[in-house]
Amino acid sequence: MRCEEVREILPAYGRDGDTGLPVRRHLSRCADCSAELARYNSLARSLEDLRTQAAEPPAELFHQLASIPYRTSRAQEVRTHVTRNRNRYATGVAVAVIGAAGAAFWKTRRGRVATA
Ligand SMILES: [Zn+2]
Repeated sequence: MRCEEVREILPAYGRDGDTGLPVRRHLSRCADCSAELARYNSLARSLEDLRTQAAEPPAELFHQLASIPYRTSRAQEVRTHVTRNRNRYATGVAVAVIGAAGAAFWKTRRGRVATA
């Protein structure tokens, strides 16, 4: 086998371990392809280690994040204000609805009186 053919198979060889006698025979004689296989295997081990490692955040990160000033957007301020004063707004809406209904009732009564 030629080096180019073996190099195409090396990732599978490193992962599965066995691709046949010609590849093993070439690797036993070719230092360059053996070194390439060693690099593949090293990379695969590093990737496997990364998969099992959990990154711990630095201890000071929580305090640094907590020290960032809290800013609310204008929309957030309005929502907070409305939530805090929900009863007043509900009363205002009820008064407006009653007023509109009263005005409509008064207008219809007045129209009826005028036509009678
Ligand atoms: Zn080779």
